[in-house]
Amino acid sequence: MELRERIRQAGLEVGFDQVGFAPADRPVHADAYLEWLEKGWHGEMAYMAREEAVLRRLSPLEALDGCRSLIVVSLSYAPASSGELPAAGSEAAAGRSLPVVARYAAGRDYHDVFEERLGALAGRVGELCPDARSKPYVDYGPVLERDHAQRAGLGWVGKNTLLIHPRLGSWLLLGELLTTVELEPDAPFVADHCGTCTRCIEACPTGAIRGARQLDARLCISYLTIELRGPIPEELRSLIGDRVFGCDICQEVCPWNDDAVSPGTTADELRPGGPLAPDTMRAWAEEMVAMSDEEFGERYRGTALRRPGREGMLRNLCVGLGNSGDAASRGVLKRCLEDPSPLVREHAAWALSRVREPVRGPSR
Ligand code: SF4
Repeated sequence: MELRERIRQAGLEVGFDQVGFAPADRPVHADAYLEWLEKGWHGEMAYMAREEAVLRRLSPLEALDGCRSLIVVSLSYAPASSGELPAAGSEAAAGRSLPVVARYAAGRDYHDVFEERLGALAGRVGELCPDARSKPYVDYGPVLERDHAQRAGLGWVGKNTLLIHPRLGSWLLLGELLTTVELEPDAPFVADHCGTCTRCIEACPTGAIRGARQLDARLCISYLTIELRGPIPEELRSLIGDRVFGCDICQEVCPWNDDAVSPGTTADELRPGGPLAPDTMRAWAEEMVAMSDEEFGERYRGTALRRPGREGMLRNLCVGLGNSGDAASRGVLKRCLEDPSPLVREHAAWALSRVREPVRGPSR
């Protein structure tokens, strides 16, 4: 078997769903990325615009001296069926003030899963090519990963800016192994199967997809609930609904994610599990308002929910409760008014202004 196919086989054996090869060239959409930064659509994600990180995104050689190839891998986190998690607005979620959490965050933090599997793949590459140097990247590293994934033939970038594969859909996590090994690239994925569909653009509640493949992160619910550290702009709060961590709407509406198209994940670590949050927003806020930052960090260790921290998650829960109209949540919202964090107090006050006291019947 030639070296490429041995490495591809090794990638599948360590647990990835797809393995492709891309050249260590300037990404095809490098100019679009620079324009996106120029417009300021990355919001407060300063790490996206740092000079040294921009240089690395524009050239894999800046990230790994002597880099010749990228081994690009994907792993599906599609639910086994659409019933595995209640989708936003579904009957299961209706009327019970259920918090909606992005699907990728339902199990173990995928960064840890990828680091383990990419580390195993790097070991296999090292066995096959003892002089090779390799460097793994998951999405927090400065690599334009969807661009390289498309170049490696793993799928096309949809109008929602996510990578989509005709068989696997878009519930895909990506990683890369930059390597000094020269590997012939795979054929790029050139077809655009979005066609005339615009479902994701129309479904986004905040209008964050401002055109095909034009994402204004400052409006994206994932950014607002995970990356943004300060207050959520007031005009966007009511549009966030019950999403307290991330958002999947642009994937839920995508026809390429229908159950018939997209098989469930093969990674047990990514299935729902771990430190389960209480199943209503009110109960979750009650639990969290009583926690210290250290207790929060301990409780959500190894999960993606740690990223916004206790303050960010409590901020998001206040917004969700304000949108729920759940009068019974006034008690916990009043406790949030006493929280040490001014951010939490301000969002609790906003929520209380929207959740009215229950109307009492006439006394007898
Ligand atoms: Fe493309 Fe339609 Fe899916 Fe959007 S919803 S990514 S336009 S196929």
